[in-house]
Amino acid sequence: MKFLSREALQTWLDRLANEATLIAPRLVDGILLYRSVSSARDIVLDYTRPKMSAKEVVLPSSEPILLVEKRGQDVNLSEPPTGEQVVFGLRPCDAHGIAVLDAVFVAQEPVDLNYARRRNATTLVGLSCPQMWEDCFCTSMGGMPNDPSHVDVLLTEVENGYAVTTVTDKGRTLVAELSLQEMEYEPPESVLNEAELVLTQEHWPDRFADQYWDLLAERCLECRMCAYLCPVCRCFDVRDQVVQQGISYSKYDRLRCWDSCTGANYRMVAGGHNPRATKGQRLRNRFFCKFHYFPVEYGLSGCVGCGRCIEACPVNIDIVEVLRDMSRASNAPQTSKVSPNAETGITA
Ligand code: SF4
Ligand code: SF4
Repeated sequence: MKFLSREALQTWLDRLANEATLIAPRLVDGILLYRSVSSARDIVLDYTRPKMSAKEVVLPSSEPILLVEKRGQDVNLSEPPTGEQVVFGLRPCDAHGIAVLDAVFVAQEPVDLNYARRRNATTLVGLSCPQMWEDCFCTSMGGMPNDPSHVDVLLTEVENGYAVTTVTDKGRTLVAELSLQEMEYEPPESVLNEAELVLTQEHWPDRFADQYWDLLAERCLECRMCAYLCPVCRCFDVRDQVVQQGISYSKYDRLRCWDSCTGANYRMVAGGHNPRATKGQRLRNRFFCKFHYFPVEYGLSGCVGCGRCIEACPVNIDIVEVLRDMSRASNAPQTSKVSPNAETGITA
C-alpha cells in the first residue's frame, strides 16, 4: 500500500487542476456538488456525500449530442468536443452508479457514442467513506464504504494523509508522477449485507397488481427529485434547440436532457395514449425498474444505496421502507423504522 501526505495531495490536486478539468466536491451557494475547481483550495474534503450524484460528470442534466449547421442546401453535422476530466473525491456509491450507467450505455451494442466519448476521457479518483452515513445502505446493494471496484484510484484517509490504492491502468498513469511512500495498511473490513433488503426476483411479479402502489402514490408529488439526484436513474429526452436561424444560415443543437419515469408525460405516445396513466403505475415502475427489470436485464441492481432519494423526497417516500414492505409481503420478516404503513394505513 502507498501513502500520500496531506501536503502532497494539495500539490497534486493543484497540478491536476492546471492540466485537465478537475471536478471535485465544492460548495456552490452553500450546497455541496461535484463541480470543476481551479485549485485544491476550492475542494471540500470533509463531507458525507454531495447533494447531487456524480452522474452529472458522465451524463449531464442537459448536453448537446449533435451540432447541426445548415448553410443553403448544405447540412453539416458535428460532434460536440470533449476534454479530459479527472473526478476527485468520488464516493464509492457514486462510482458504483457510474459502473451501472456504463452497463447501459457502453457495455452492449449499440454503444452510446456521446456517453462513451465522455466516459473514456474521465478518470475517477475515489475517496472512501470513513463510515456509513445516515440513510446510506450501500452494503445492502453490493457496495462498501471503501469499495475500490469502480474507480481508477481510491484514497482512504489515514493519519496525516491517505492510503492510495491504484486499481486500473488509467489510475496507475495518473499517480505515476507522484512520489508515494510505502506504508503498512490493512483496509477495514466492510460487511456486505445484501440479504437484508433485496427481495428475490421471483417475488416481484407477485407485487405488480398490488394496491400498495396506488396508496403509496397518493403522497407522491411527481417532483422527480428522486430520479434527478440518483446516481443510477438515466431516463432522458431528446429535443432540438435553435441557436441561430436565418435565411441562408441556421444552427441547432440536439440536446439530451434528463427525464424521469415518475413524470406524468414520460410514457405518453403520439395520439396522447399513456400506458402508465396513473401515479401508482409510474411509482411502481420506479421500484420495479430498480429491483426487478434492471437486475433481470443487466444482472445489476438499479440502486446503489446512496440514500439521496430518502433525504430529498419532500413527502418521505423511503426506498428502504418500500423494500421492507415488499419483503414482509413475501414472508421475509423485516422491521420498518417509519413504515409508510404507519403513516398512511397502507397494508402491504
Ligand atoms: S421525490 Fe418523492 S414526491 Fe418527488 S417524485 Fe420522487 S417519490 Fe414522488
Ligand atoms: S438510494 Fe435512491 S438515489 Fe440512491 S441509488 Fe438508490 S434509488 Fe438512487
